[in-house]
Amino acid sequence: MKMKMDDIGRIVIPAYLREYLGLHRKNKLVFEQRPDAIVLKHWEGCCLFCSSEKSLIAYKGKLVCRDCLEGLKEMKMN
Ligand SMILES: [Zn+2]
Repeated sequence: MKMKMDDIGRIVIPAYLREYLGLHRKNKLVFEQRPDAIVLKHWEGCCLFCSSEKSLIAYKGKLVCRDCLEGLKEMKMN
């Protein structure tokens, strides 16, 4: 897929890629510089769901804040 940067260097990450990577609005991201590429990754020092940096709990290598953990607990399984 080809993307065009705007005049100040911004690009839009297509919705299907955001969904595929589990990126949500206001998630913090990290650019990883490689010799021939730039890799965009979740910033892993924050909650996987809301990017909060407070009250984090590690679960299976991912960080989740207490608020999101409570929200997950309230979800019903299908
Ligand atoms: Zn959260």
